[in-house]
Amino acid sequence: MLKTIGERLFGGSCFLCRGKADALLCAPCDADLPRISSGPDAERCPRCALASPAGALCGRCLSQPPAYDATQAALDYAFPADVLIQALKFRGELALAPFLGELLSKSISDAKVDCIVPVPLSAQRLRERGYNQSLEIARGLSARSGARLAPELCERVRDTPAQMDLSIPERARNVGKAFHCPRMLGGRSIAVVDDVMTTGATLDEIAATLKRAGAARVVNWVVARTAPSHA
Ligand SMILES: [Zn+2]
Ligand SMILES: [Zn+2]
Repeated sequence: MLKTIGERLFGGSCFLCRGKADALLCAPCDADLPRISSGPDAERCPRCALASPAGALCGRCLSQPPAYDATQAALDYAFPADVLIQALKFRGELALAPFLGELLSKSISDAKVDCIVPVPLSAQRLRERGYNQSLEIARGLSARSGARLAPELCERVRDTPAQMDLSIPERARNVGKAFHCPRMLGGRSIAVVDDVMTTGATLDEIAATLKRAGAARVVNWVVARTAPSHA
């Protein structure tokens, strides 16, 4: 008998509750994911994806516009989305990458980009972890959107301390001039893929780097967005 993908990868049990499942998650756990509604009635700032009444541009984006033009996020960074993202990032559960990539691709309303660029890890972190979770998520997005996966367009030029260990002002300083784009992008439209967007400082710096290289438009595609209280 043919097995479903969920049975082949996870022995037919839900990744979260271990109950019977024919996909990575059982139906109740899947329904528990804190999905962010997209579309015209979304109560999110279109630029940074934080909650904003009637989907208007938020105060922070109005007063200090970030270098990126838009952000699309699939989930709020809350239980059980945080469990999935941490398992992919820290426990090598790479089978979660296509699952999260598919969730993200379903939440993207404007998929017309030329290239998809995953947020790069430092060389040291890549050695320690053995993979870049954002690149793994981006693979499926490239296959589904038809845009070229182009990790070479953004290099991390110096190793930076992990953002999680730093305060917000430290995070902003920490990412300053941390990235480099080795090509001219001649008006291209780029999607930058990350697993979690917290302060947005890293994505702001990457968007600024890509725009200095000539990108016309830079959008963030992130699996999960933290609420301001986490930031
Ligand atoms: Zn379950
Ligand atoms: Zn905003």
